[in-house]
Amino acid sequence: MSRSSRIAAVVGLLLLPTLAVAKPAPARKPKVSPNKEAAVASVETHRAALTGLADQVWRFAETALRETRSSKVLADWAEAQGFHVERGVAGMPTAFVATFGQGAPVIGVLGEFDALPGISQKAQPEKEPLEVDAPGHGCGHNLFGAASLGAATAIKELIQAGKLQGTIRFYGTPAEESVGGKLYMVREGLFKDVDVVLVWHPSVEVRADTRSTQALVDFLVEFRGTASHAAFDPWNGRSALDAVELFTHGLNLMREHVKPSVRMHYVIKDGGDVPNVVPGHAAVWGWVRDTEHASVDELLLRVRKIAEGAALAAGVEGSLRVQSGDYEMLVNRAGARLLQSNLEWLGPVPFTEKDQEFAKLLQRSAGVVEKGLDGSVQPIDENPGPPEGGSTDVADVSWNVPTLHLSVTTAPANTAWHAWPVVACAGTTVGHAGMVYASKTLAATAVDLFEDPARRVAIRKEFDEKTKGVTYKGYIPDGPPPVPQP
Ligand SMILES: [Zn+2]
Repeated sequence: MSRSSRIAAVVGLLLLPTLAVAKPAPARKPKVSPNKEAAVASVETHRAALTGLADQVWRFAETALRETRSSKVLADWAEAQGFHVERGVAGMPTAFVATFGQGAPVIGVLGEFDALPGISQKAQPEKEPLEVDAPGHGCGHNLFGAASLGAATAIKELIQAGKLQGTIRFYGTPAEESVGGKLYMVREGLFKDVDVVLVWHPSVEVRADTRSTQALVDFLVEFRGTASHAAFDPWNGRSALDAVELFTHGLNLMREHVKPSVRMHYVIKDGGDVPNVVPGHAAVWGWVRDTEHASVDELLLRVRKIAEGAALAAGVEGSLRVQSGDYEMLVNRAGARLLQSNLEWLGPVPFTEKDQEFAKLLQRSAGVVEKGLDGSVQPIDENPGPPEGGSTDVADVSWNVPTLHLSVTTAPANTAWHAWPVVACAGTTVGHAGMVYASKTLAATAVDLFEDPARRVAIRKEFDEKTKGVTYKGYIPDGPPPVPQP
């Protein structure tokens, strides 16, 4: 190369960026697998049906282990699509597993559908119950189940067409909001042969989650004393309520001597019946949370001692029974990066002007800044802080199978969660838009997992490293799940 031509080459190189700016190449999405395009198209094809399912479950608004109709509409739809459906698994009439295909890999998708008591709300931006004191979908689980089933169905169609090999399995998981249906499904061994589990949750942002959730233990403390007339012969009585007061006082003093990450909360389930009878029975229902289950275990030992001390001081019998609880979420970074690539491929959630108007009216009702919905894809958080105040039974699955967790916007920021604004959004096109988007992301990610064994190996390797030496033991008592009598 001559000196002058070198100069020309350098000048040419220097000019290139300018030329590129002056005449941009047409924007083109990176090439993706035709199966991925087909999976996303399948979700779109089923949009009306999935929206219909979400709306039905929203109207049923059934609480934990009472989700009879909600579970049925989802299981019936799966069956109609050609899935093999097993109902009433793990001792819970509303738990089911829908399977299609055979052999490896086995990819699972989790769906929830339980509502929360007492937060019934119309699908409108002003607070007004649909039915006074009735339950409502204040966590958007009506969208959760339908979106996940939509993703599983998209994969089922590709297996059926011979485009993908393996097994897709949809898990209908009840009672996330109370006893944690997934713990019983894990105990039953229903996830034993699964390679990777995909799950999403309604949120106020779009994110491939790299932040864990809090571990939690749920316990009941009961005291049994001696009833007597509160005025005629109180010396013959020993008050179980006294023990409750001592116990809660002890717990509240303990707050000073735990790490800031610890959360402890309780309600008094039974404080006696009437003032003129010394209470012979009293009970406190409590939860203790922290960032790791090992810490929760230590805290529980201290809480037990407080209960014993309270019983001793009040001269009554005391007992503490663990009812349920959750591990902290085991994050899979390799999996999160895969989810992220599909979020970026799909772009933001396409909320309409009408959706944004609705969200702003909700924010106005709540007295917060009227910013509307954030459908943009958040960058992956490589250095997430400690878990924020929430727990989920998905975390227990994550210690048994590599679990990829996604959040998708279904409600505006800064309006209360587990409350009427979320119920309102979950029953409108705001929630539907987030649901369809979540379904597409899960379906696209599942295609990657089927098509690329290296992805599965990387995800499994990280899981194996993080669970090395850990023996999982769920926070559920022996015996069947506490299914309420109809
Ligand atoms: Zn939830």
